[in-house]
Amino acid sequence: MGRLDGKVAFISGGARGMGAEEARLFAQEGAKVAIGDILDDDGRAVEAEINENGGDCLYVHLDVTREANWQDAIAATVSRFGRLDILVNNAGIGGMGGLIEDTAVEDWERVMDINGKGVFLGTKAAIPAMQDVGGGSIINISSQLGIVATDMSSAQYHASKGAVRILTKSTAIQFAPDGIRANSVHPGPVVTDMTAGRRAAPDAYARMLSSIPLNRFAEPREIANAVLYLASDESSYITGSEVVVDGGWVAQ
Ligand code: NAD
Repeated sequence: MGRLDGKVAFISGGARGMGAEEARLFAQEGAKVAIGDILDDDGRAVEAEINENGGDCLYVHLDVTREANWQDAIAATVSRFGRLDILVNNAGIGGMGGLIEDTAVEDWERVMDINGKGVFLGTKAAIPAMQDVGGGSIINISSQLGIVATDMSSAQYHASKGAVRILTKSTAIQFAPDGIRANSVHPGPVVTDMTAGRRAAPDAYARMLSSIPLNRFAEPREIANAVLYLASDESSYITGSEVVVDGGWVAQ
């Protein structure tokens, strides 16, 4: 018995990092999984890997900032798998620190578009399909940096992840009558491509480690396990909530 038997999930940013790990874990737990990304080769490789291992995965091209892409991606998922129960809004881009006075408007807009508007558009596209099946679970990947500020990341990254946190709660309130739950996950630093530059810079790496009580970065599976719980019916009474998976960062 898988924890997601009979369910269909869509994961944005599923070609790499945490999104790919969530897709693997969801498939192992019995879900049919669609992943969307702008990295088509990587996305197809994850699709092939999951299918070769006995799962059922579909890759679709998706730029999360484009509403038409989202409509097509959800339609392709429902067409292939018959329904949609779970949406993970995971796609995102990072950003090292930088003073606001030195930040170009274009940099602000790019981060807010992908990390913020992308979650709004994904939610908007998925809700009707979830209403069709009488409920669902939306998991939005924010960050510990959506809860507390630091000078180790950019203002636009903090702002975008803070937006994801409260957009999640708004979604939970609006769609509770439809049986649709929405929760945010707040990872601390994770070993993915997004943090490769920081991990390769000894001073930046040491400074970040010193902010983590567990004194290490997370592995993608440690975040995926929390996402799995929120996707499954085990979390049936949890909505509008935030699950912090950060090695203790925001506890300080
Ligand atoms: P990653 O860079 O390994 O993967 C991100 C994926 O999102 C990539 O496959 C990328 O192609 C995709 N993506 C980027 N822009 C996109 C777009 N416009 N449309 C569709 N897909 C797009 O990063 P990750 O560490 O796996 O990050 C996943 C999520 O977790 C992000 O939202 C990130 O902000 C968040 N997060 C990461 C960390 C960390 O330390 N790595 C910590 C907290 C939160």
